[in-house]
Amino acid sequence: MNTSNLNRSHWLSALTTRGHFSAYMGSWDFYCALCGAGFAASGALPSPEEVESMRRAMEEAGEVSDEYLHADLVTEEDIQWLEDLRLLGRNDHGRIGKGCYITGIGGAEDYGWASADPGDHPNIPTPEWATENYHGLGGKFGTSVYWELSSPDISTEMPLPIHDRCFQMLRRVISGTENGEIDLDALYDAMGTMRGGHGGPCKLMFNNGSLRLDYYELAEHSLEQFWSTVGCEPFLMNPFDISGLSDYISQLPKSPAKTAGSPTPTSPDIFSRLPLELLVEIFMYLPKSSLLPFLLSSRTAHGASRSQWIWKKRLQLDMPWVWEFRELKRDGEFDEVDWHAVYGKMSVLSFRKVWEKKWKGNRWYSEDGENDALNRRLIGIAGRRRIWNCCEEVLELYRKQLAGEGETPWWKRY
Ligand SMILES: [Zn+2]
Repeated sequence: MNTSNLNRSHWLSALTTRGHFSAYMGSWDFYCALCGAGFAASGALPSPEEVESMRRAMEEAGEVSDEYLHADLVTEEDIQWLEDLRLLGRNDHGRIGKGCYITGIGGAEDYGWASADPGDHPNIPTPEWATENYHGLGGKFGTSVYWELSSPDISTEMPLPIHDRCFQMLRRVISGTENGEIDLDALYDAMGTMRGGHGGPCKLMFNNGSLRLDYYELAEHSLEQFWSTVGCEPFLMNPFDISGLSDYISQLPKSPAKTAGSPTPTSPDIFSRLPLELLVEIFMYLPKSSLLPFLLSSRTAHGASRSQWIWKKRLQLDMPWVWEFRELKRDGEFDEVDWHAVYGKMSVLSFRKVWEKKWKGNRWYSEDGENDALNRRLIGIAGRRRIWNCCEEVLELYRKQLAGEGETPWWKRY
């Protein structure tokens, strides 16, 4: 066993000993630069014995423990993705471009250390270039990603730790496809402009991997020690494999209207002479604030808004993070679908705080009792939306770098 693996198993056993991180490890926590969540799955869920003991204590005290994720909502498998990271860094000795690289998959270790499979990027630091910050143990590429505030060398350039899944999400957001290209130099510079953010005395770079991005529901978590507590469930679940989504798509609600797909104008007006396709285009390009005046201005326009087709398009436009709807094959099969209802459902699951329902008598409460079991398996949509939004922030910065309009990234300032 190499040192790297030894450290890792030691770290994991420390995690499982007590909650998420044991106290002495806490100050070394680091977070995903893209989404702000941590890299530990172990310890976030209680053992069956702990659940039993908590339930007993709750019964006696009539209270609810919120120290852990709810085991009825999240399984170990759901949060395992948190442990897979990649490192996005820059190598002065790189072979191509500005020397930026992305490693293969690795994981967090103790004392702010991460190690990863080197992967096949031509700019990965090799052993002959290794410095005290880059050690290849057991064939792995290892480095600290946690900036020690007391370190005299403030210019040490740490790579950014990013969940593998978050990097996949970013690839979709940037390229529009699952396997699209990313310009790593532009990405590294884009993210580099956001170093040196939250808290801490260091103005150069934040010491724990997270950036000055809005991390939405987990914004507070990357500022301090991260604890996986009740309410975090949707945001710690695997953002790609949402178990209920394929079941939901296989039984989408059917439209009650026979006229799905076509408006039913009742009197001639200015819009009645326009083909439906054009009305749809107008509907799509209108800002939200103009939607209501537009619908009230014309019966035809109002009729068009009842078209299921419009809601399907609007779903793809407004909620691109449920890309499964964009990628549905054999469109004809979905002609009868009540897309207005689907839009509403996805909107609720993406934005509303349905996950904030608390345990009451050991039961998960939902307003939609009939679909309770399925809703539980769809809560990850909110987590996916959160990461998608983080990626969109990075996309904005990335585009500026590509256009030569971005700020100077951190590594060029010193
Ligand atoms: Zn992440």
